[in-house]
Amino acid sequence: MASSQPPLNIVVIGGSLAGLMTAVALKQSGHNVTVIEKEDNERESHMAGVCLGPDAVEYLEKYDRIESIFSHQSRRIQALVGNDKLKTFVNGRREITNWDTMYYRLRSNFDGYASDTCPISPSNTPEDGQGVYHTQREVLDIQPEIQPDDEDSGEKKTRMSVTMLDRKSGHKANIQADLVVGADGPDSFVRNKYQSHVERKYVGYIAWRGTVLESEASEETRHLFRRSVTVFMMDKQHCIVYTIPGKNGSLQPGDRYLNFLWYTNETEESLNEILKDGLDGHRHHNIVPSGRVRQDIWAERTKQAEALPLSKPMLEIFLKIKRPFIQVITDFCSHQAAFEDGKVLLVGDGVSLFRPHTAFSGTQAAFHALCTADFVNGKVTRQQWESKVLRYSRLHYLQSNWYGDFYQSSMLTALVAAVRYWTMCGVDRVLSWWSGDAPLLRTGTFKVEEYDDE
Ligand SMILES: Cc1cc2nc3c(=O)[nH]c(=O)nc-3n(C[C@H](O)[C@H](O)[C@H](O)COP(=O)(O)OP(=O)(O)OC[C@H]3O[C@@H](n4cnc5c(N)ncnc54)[C@H](O)[C@@H]3O)c2cc1C
Repeated sequence: MASSQPPLNIVVIGGSLAGLMTAVALKQSGHNVTVIEKEDNERESHMAGVCLGPDAVEYLEKYDRIESIFSHQSRRIQALVGNDKLKTFVNGRREITNWDTMYYRLRSNFDGYASDTCPISPSNTPEDGQGVYHTQREVLDIQPEIQPDDEDSGEKKTRMSVTMLDRKSGHKANIQADLVVGADGPDSFVRNKYQSHVERKYVGYIAWRGTVLESEASEETRHLFRRSVTVFMMDKQHCIVYTIPGKNGSLQPGDRYLNFLWYTNETEESLNEILKDGLDGHRHHNIVPSGRVRQDIWAERTKQAEALPLSKPMLEIFLKIKRPFIQVITDFCSHQAAFEDGKVLLVGDGVSLFRPHTAFSGTQAAFHALCTADFVNGKVTRQQWESKVLRYSRLHYLQSNWYGDFYQSSMLTALVAAVRYWTMCGVDRVLSWWSGDAPLLRTGTFKVEEYDDE
């Protein structure tokens, strides 16, 4: 997979999924990659699922050097009607894993980091570049720096100077890079520097969520939820349950988790109370983590779950959640992803934050990583890279808006969102045909496979 280009020194800001996917692809293309992450090696997961759509599967086939299976397969989205009737909502296969499993696997591939999830790392090949992962370093600034005339060509070259803070020692340092990739998430420093007008906005609803060990659910409920993503729809609110790997990525039935979410519409004013920290009272912005949700707030939600009531299996899971957390649903979509003449690129959630209903953020990260490797290896131009990255993000952003409005808003709002999405699909088809590329929307490639336990 090594590139014919001379190796570049590349800095990736942010060492979560988008950063690591990009870093692995670039390292395996022969470039020297430094990931700068402000948090530690061992991270607290949100204990939620990460779905692997077609582009993520393609990415893993290309770059993942670990053999073991690490995802649970769902074959459809099914709707729960009443307490025990199931109706197929959308057919299609989805691979579902969780953030930790994916993170440790990518770390193992990138810098050989050993964890309980991936204790043995794959070997490097002679074509690989170097891979370094710095933790507890926060990027504070990036600036172009004109280099002295090149001895051979006599041309002036521009490199990027990255200023970072060592959070342990408090020291600042600069490193130089031929290319900087901003994979620093929805509150991206890189996006704020170049596109400060793109704001992360509250979309009017939140998710009450948590996980329950499969072995703690009743036999009937486990059976009902065993293969599929299951939705229970109510008037402008809905619950969803699906299976994700358990501790250290275990796929053993019983050890896995049932991941539960209940979406409700909330006014901005009511968020002031809901998001108050249960221990020190400060107001969270986008997530109230496990162990910090106020007991009275969760008790009130429990009363409402019983009063509605939620469908029996959904209620069972909800009541068994021991470490709940609350997620505020926000979104945005950028109009630009390449800056400083292509020496700074933005990828992942930094480009576009989707609503969770389509579960596509991990897949977006993979698509951006695939495109970035193509660009760095000279297979596409900067303009082609940016056009693809932005078009993909806009398409899936509109899709997630449509799904969200379908579940949480009026029919008219959902219809308008659907029209915007399908118009963008048409644009995608035309542009793909024009450029000779495959359409970016690849949900049609999901296969429905037969399972022997049905
Ligand atoms: C700890 C953690 C757990 C998560 N758990 C889940 C989950 O269970 N399910 C799910 O669907 N999604 C989860 N996500 C989000 C998921 O990773 C993203 O939705 C998506 O996969 C794309 O990720 P990303 O790498 O673009 O952004 P993010 O995952 O948000 O990562 C951005 C990274 O950049 C780092 N960073 C930000 N600013 C700087 C800076 N200035 N200098 C250095 N580093 C910086 C952050 O610490 C973070 O690690 C989680 C994210 C994190 C960080």
